[in-house]
Amino acid sequence: MNIDFAGKQVLVRVDFNVPLDAEHNITDDTRIRRALPTLTHILEEGGSVVLMSHLGRPGKKRLEDGSIDVEKFTLKHVVERLMKLLGVRVLFCPETVGEQATEMAKNLKRGQVLLLENTRFNEGEKKGDPEFAKQLADLGEVYVNDAFGTAHRAHASTTTVAQYFAPEAKCFGFLLENELQNASKITENPERPFAAILGGAKVSDKIVLLEKLIDKADIVIVGGGMAFTFIKAQGGSIGNSLCEDDKLRLALDIMKKAEDKGVKFLLPHDCSAADAFSNDAQIKTTPIDQIPDGWMGLDIGPLSRAMFAEALQEAKTILWNGPMGVFEMENFAKGTVAVAEAVARATKEHGAYSLIGGGDSAAAVTIAGLDDDVSYVSTGGGAMLELLEGKVLPGVKAMGE
Ligand code: AMP
Repeated sequence: MNIDFAGKQVLVRVDFNVPLDAEHNITDDTRIRRALPTLTHILEEGGSVVLMSHLGRPGKKRLEDGSIDVEKFTLKHVVERLMKLLGVRVLFCPETVGEQATEMAKNLKRGQVLLLENTRFNEGEKKGDPEFAKQLADLGEVYVNDAFGTAHRAHASTTTVAQYFAPEAKCFGFLLENELQNASKITENPERPFAAILGGAKVSDKIVLLEKLIDKADIVIVGGGMAFTFIKAQGGSIGNSLCEDDKLRLALDIMKKAEDKGVKFLLPHDCSAADAFSNDAQIKTTPIDQIPDGWMGLDIGPLSRAMFAEALQEAKTILWNGPMGVFEMENFAKGTVAVAEAVARATKEHGAYSLIGGGDSAAAVTIAGLDDDVSYVSTGGGAMLELLEGKVLPGVKAMGE
C-alpha cells in the first residue's frame, strides 16, 4: 500500500461475508480480523474509511414476495464486532449508494469509518454495472481492494469501480497483497519436493487444478469424496460413496499422466465407512476398494492417515485444498485433522512452506487449533483455487488498468 492516505477519504472493498447463526450472531470473524491491518494503517495515516462488502446471497434467497431479506443479510450485523476489533466507532449507512450514503460520506472526518449496506442489495453489483460502480466511486478519493474472497468475481465493487480511479489512486490492501504473494510461492518455482493434497466432494470442481498439479508437483495426494471416483475407475467397490460416473475415464487419464511424469500419486488405502450419512451411523474401517453395498466412505482410515502424514514430511512445499472426509461430523473428522497436524509438523519440524487453500481446509486448520503452525491460511476458497489454476482474477486485473 504505497499511497499516502493522510487527509484522504478511502473507499475500501473488504470481504465481511462472515457466517451468521439463526440469531444473526457472527460465528467466525476471521474475515473481519484479516482486514484489520489495512484499515488500521489507513486510519493511523490520517485517512477516513468508507467500507463496502457483500454478505451472503441476498439475491438468491429472497422473501416470498420477491423482495430482499434485509433483516437476514444486512451488514448491520457486523458493526458491533468490527467496532470492537478495530477499536474505533463505526457509522452504518442503511443504503449502499444514494442521498444518505453521499451525505454520510461527505460528513466523514479523518479517522472515522463508515460501513455501507450490503453491496448485493443492488442489482448492479453482480452485473458489474458501470453506473452503480460510479456511484460507489464517488464516495471516496482513493480505492483500496482488500477483498480477496471475491476477487474472482467481476462485480461492481470489486472490479468495475477500479476504472474510476487513476493508477496512483488505487491499490491492493495488505490482505490481498499477501494472498497473491503466497499463491505465487506455489505457482512460481516451488521449493521441491512439492506435495499437493486435494480433497472435498467433487473431482469436477478441481479438475483444472489437478491437471496443473500433475505438471508441477512431485507428490499428489487425493482424499475426501473425490477419491472414490479414482477408486471406482480402477475397478474398486465403493458402495454408496460419492462418485462422478462421468469422470471415471478422466480419473484414469490423470493417473496415467502422473505415472508418465513420475509424479507420486497417492490415494487412500482404507476408509471409515458408514451405513448412513450421519454422525450417528454405524461405522467400520474397510479397505477403500472393498466397501460393502449400502455403506459409504465418509473419511480416510488409519492406514491412509499414517501414509499421507508420512508422505508430507518429505515435502518442502505443501498445498492443501479440501477436507479428507465429512469433517463437519465429528466421527468423520479424523482424517482431516490428521492432515492438518501433518502439514503443521512438516512446517515446524522440516521447514516446509505450507499454503492452506480457503474454505473447508482453512476451517479444518482452525478447528485443529493450528492456524499459527502453518505458513499461510488463505481467506478465499474459490479465488485461491482460480489463482492456483493460473487464472488472472478480474479484481486483480482491474487494478492494473
Ligand atoms: P469442497 O467444497 O469440494 O472442498 O467439498 C467440501 C465438502 O466435501 C465438505 O462439506 C465435506 O463434508 C465433503 N466431503 C468430504 N469427503 C467426503 C466424503 N467422503 N463423502 C461425502 N462428502 C465428503
